Amino acid sequence: MISPTFISELAAIVGQPHCLTAPEDLLCYAYDATRIEGRPDAVVQPATTDEVSRILRLANNEGIPVTPRGAGSGLTGGAVAMEGGIVLSTERMRGMGAIDRGNLLLTVQPGVITGDIHKYVESQGLFYPPDPSSSAFCTIGGNVAENAGGPRALKYGVTADYVKKLEAVLPSGEVIEVGTANAKGVVGYDLLHLLVGSEGTLAVVTGITLRLIPKPPEIGTLTAFFRDEDTAATLVARVFDAGIIPRAVEFMDRAALAVAGDTAFIPQGGRAALIIETDGKNGEAEREMDAIRLLCEEAGALEIRRARDNAERESLWKLRKNLSQAMYRIAPSKINEDIVVPRTRLAEMVAFLRETANARNVKIAAFGHAGDGNIHVNVMADRRDKEEYERALEVVGEVFRKTVELGGTISGEHGVGLTKLPYVGMELGPEVARLSRGIKALFDPKGILNPGKAIPGEQGGRR
Ligand SMILES: Cc1cc2nc3c(=O)[nH]c(=O)nc-3n(C[C@H](O)[C@H](O)[C@H](O)COP(=O)(O)OP(=O)(O)OC[C@H]3O[C@@H](n4cnc5c(N)ncnc54)[C@H](O)[C@@H]3O)c2cc1C
Repeated sequence: MISPTFISELAAIVGQPHCLTAPEDLLCYAYDATRIEGRPDAVVQPATTDEVSRILRLANNEGIPVTPRGAGSGLTGGAVAMEGGIVLSTERMRGMGAIDRGNLLLTVQPGVITGDIHKYVESQGLFYPPDPSSSAFCTIGGNVAENAGGPRALKYGVTADYVKKLEAVLPSGEVIEVGTANAKGVVGYDLLHLLVGSEGTLAVVTGITLRLIPKPPEIGTLTAFFRDEDTAATLVARVFDAGIIPRAVEFMDRAALAVAGDTAFIPQGGRAALIIETDGKNGEAEREMDAIRLLCEEAGALEIRRARDNAERESLWKLRKNLSQAMYRIAPSKINEDIVVPRTRLAEMVAFLRETANARNVKIAAFGHAGDGNIHVNVMADRRDKEEYERALEVVGEVFRKTVELGGTISGEHGVGLTKLPYVGMELGPEVARLSRGIKALFDPKGILNPGKAIPGEQGGRR
């Protein structure tokens, strides 16, 4: 519990209306998309870097935990205040600068919604490629903290590939700038890319300079349905083997298709689907679509739907975009993992998931960014049924073991947060874990910033 004096000092920094302590307000900030609960003692909504700095200095002096929070759409519990203290919400930090067209740069505050960046830059003929499927509501600060990906990461890369420079506040309250807005820059350690993906454990990001690229003028999209998952999964690597890098290749397995909603849309016998998207100019997108269509036909696709315009494109994507919520038609509790395996091992992983679900009597639905081998594995159960939920958790461990065995990684984009911490030791050696703890201690000697998240302990798991 934090003292009334401390609360008054917080309120003096951000203004009374932006320092929340009522139980109903605290409850609203007690969750992220994992539904894990951790109630803070106070929520502050600063509007400026200076306010963030003063909040952190105050909290650091008193040893009060601070959990940075964007939109709370994270899938690993990163924004949940497990040790109470303060949630620092960036929701009032929504400033967007003017686009620097000569240098193709845009500087924004961390609370800007990612989808608003897309709309703004695309209205100017430019493009910010990273597109987490949550872009309609997640923040760019959250994307930086998680190094978010999304379907287009396949061709264009992830958030880290577009962040040029950051302004950030250390737990001590000191403001630092890392990276450079120049096209090149190699002075000093690459602290920019240390902060990107640091999950709010090292500093609070308060300013972000993004690199933009010209918007590809043409897009081609198709959805292909298959009789089985193995054919669809094997086809993914074949597209690359043909010399094509699509901008997205999304996979859906039979369990995902079964709850996808629009059953009229799915042909009879369709047990797997791929959404494939290309882009480019001078007819490149359509030429690549023609080649991909041929590959799908050769693989025996049941049906191929190709978008003729943007409205049809959106309707093809709807099937995929609705899936995250549709999972709850399978069971009330979702354990969502985002493993990555080499594209060429995808079919093996998909077969493993199916066999494990049958053998362990657990419901698994898999879909996601198959082009980069990044599959969202949803182990569905009912948390109220203790035995079933325990079994589901055991299966998660088995899936991670198989992932590492196949040369993959246990998280492609959602981060470690709270939920993956017990498994980090499967992938990171003890030396790397020790260095990570040392870096954390250097940035945050009192351990006030997002404690208990992301950093492996001596045993490789939770500290
Ligand atoms: C339906 C759905 C689809 C999704 N699809 C994708 C996807 O395709 N790709 C993908 O990568 N992710 C996806 N996600 C996960 C999630 O949206 C991303 O991790 C996103 O980047 C989180 O942003 P947020 O603003 O909600 O951050 P939050 O959940 O609020 O926070 C996430 C982490 O970032 C830290 N943080 C937030 N802001 C700051 C800051 N300013 N400074 C320092 N640390 C900060 C928090 O402490 C926390 O550790 C999806 C989530 C949902 C619910």
